[in-house]
Amino acid sequence: MSDLMESRPTTASAVDPSRVVQAIRSVVGDRAALHEPEFAGNEWRYVRDTIDTGWVSSAGSYVDRFEEMLAERIGVARVIATANGTAALHLALVMAGVSPGDEVLTPALTFVATPNAVTYSGAVPHFVDSSEETLGIDPYRLARYLDRIGERVDGQLVNRNTGRPIRAVLPMHTFGHPVDLDPLIEVCERHGIVLVEDAAESIGSYYKGRHTGGIGRIGALSFNGNKTVTTGGGGAVVTDDEELGARAKHVSTQAKVPHRWEYVHDAIGFNYRLPNLNAALGCAQLEQLDGFLTDKRRLAERYAEAFMAIPGIRFFVEPPFARSNYWLNAILLDEPDLAQRDAVLGATNDAGLQTRPVWRLMHRLPMYADAPRDSLVVSEAIEARLVSIPSSARFGR
Ligand SMILES: *Cc1c(COP(=O)(O)O)cnc(C)c1O
Repeated sequence: MSDLMESRPTTASAVDPSRVVQAIRSVVGDRAALHEPEFAGNEWRYVRDTIDTGWVSSAGSYVDRFEEMLAERIGVARVIATANGTAALHLALVMAGVSPGDEVLTPALTFVATPNAVTYSGAVPHFVDSSEETLGIDPYRLARYLDRIGERVDGQLVNRNTGRPIRAVLPMHTFGHPVDLDPLIEVCERHGIVLVEDAAESIGSYYKGRHTGGIGRIGALSFNGNKTVTTGGGGAVVTDDEELGARAKHVSTQAKVPHRWEYVHDAIGFNYRLPNLNAALGCAQLEQLDGFLTDKRRLAERYAEAFMAIPGIRFFVEPPFARSNYWLNAILLDEPDLAQRDAVLGATNDAGLQTRPVWRLMHRLPMYADAPRDSLVVSEAIEARLVSIPSSARFGR
């Protein structure tokens, strides 16, 4: 009996949590937070300037400069800086034509802001599975799934189980690792659905040489305090469509019609613009982005090496078609095993090394328990295998 037990693969690949602690320590030292911002550039000078000049709110030169710097980096025609990434996602979905009663395909393995933004737009999130190679939507599984559950009604893809139009797909580039976009774009074209990118985690990440977020019709970024670049709180909508971008900017500022003194609004708009105070911080941060990316890549290389010799666990590396920003580094158990994952989480956090599991899958949260979904076997396996490890850029220096 015990011989039989020992020959089972889960036993053979058992992970020793103390070796995980050792490996992380060998790279980052004795204590480490999961991700900390760094203000070593012009942050203080620019923020002070907004106070000295009185331009702290939504109009101001740092907002324009921040948007220009982002447009250049991402390679898109228009950028609209927003109050946070969730607002950017909401605005992007509305601009993409997502309307009440629609469905939006999105991964179950994501941060809750992704389906929440879908819900704000009046649409219903429809959860699909992820790929082990990218940790994001698996376009091949999605194609087969849509062949099964989709039908064309008056030229529109409709979910034959719910009768609702499937308007858009909202992939998320998990931890900065780009989704395989070419086959996903093919699915979108075949079915006439819009591609909106949740690039909240992927500033500085490229898919086949193109910056994430700017590849779909419209995309959203986040500059929250835990992201690679921070404005305190902030986000951006990005698109290569001039007209769509102009419209998004208009709607983001209460849809106010420009006039010297009249208050006239031609649509139900939002108060979603980024204050100049935050944009000042963002300009200083963007000036340092290339340095952050170099450091984070070096940190990932050190982790990859440190975990090479540890049985039962491996360091997650970017997919072959991508250049990732390695926003959050992750290790994956060979076998899905929540008890082992939790043993690793316990040992590392006890040792002063901040690690985290991946987000509780969206279909397991009470408000999304009844949302339509495909089988999520790969996402569920990833959830039981993945641990995020300390990822601040300075550890790569
Ligand atoms: C951070 C994040 C967001 C939202 O960003 P906020 O700026 O915190 O509103 C959205 N989606 C994902 C995947 C994120 O990681």
